[in-house]
Amino acid sequence: MSCNSGQSSGEKKVGGCHGVPSKCHCGKDVVFYTSNTQANPGRPFFRCPNRGDDHLFKWVEEGVYEEVVDALPKFSIIGREIEDLKERIEELKEDGMLIKRDTKKWKLMSSLCLVCLTFSVIAIVILLLKTKNPKFVLGY
Ligand SMILES: [Zn+2]
Repeated sequence: MSCNSGQSSGEKKVGGCHGVPSKCHCGKDVVFYTSNTQANPGRPFFRCPNRGDDHLFKWVEEGVYEEVVDALPKFSIIGREIEDLKERIEELKEDGMLIKRDTKKWKLMSSLCLVCLTFSVIAIVILLLKTKNPKFVLGY
């Protein structure tokens, strides 16, 4: 994220940057440092390598906090999308169960039809063999 210059009140913070910065308004990549001052020992911050008063300075926790605040609405949207997908999965499971049940039904019906057809063919063959006209059996 590139930042514009501007002095904030209170802390020595420069830049109208929102979120975690990557560049200063001057175009330089920001550098990550850790404070060793008595007021802020061990506190991490971003700073432009040019280090001027009009160049970027930002505490890391401020940038991270802004990123989290920006991301919260996205989490809400993602949460709703996950709920929608869960509902869709349940619907597909129900559809799958119906298809499975219908498939079993059709397999049973086709087996019954095959048995009926087999008996019919056997009956026809027996009847034809009992007739006195063998030409008809051979298809002439
Ligand atoms: Zn700069």
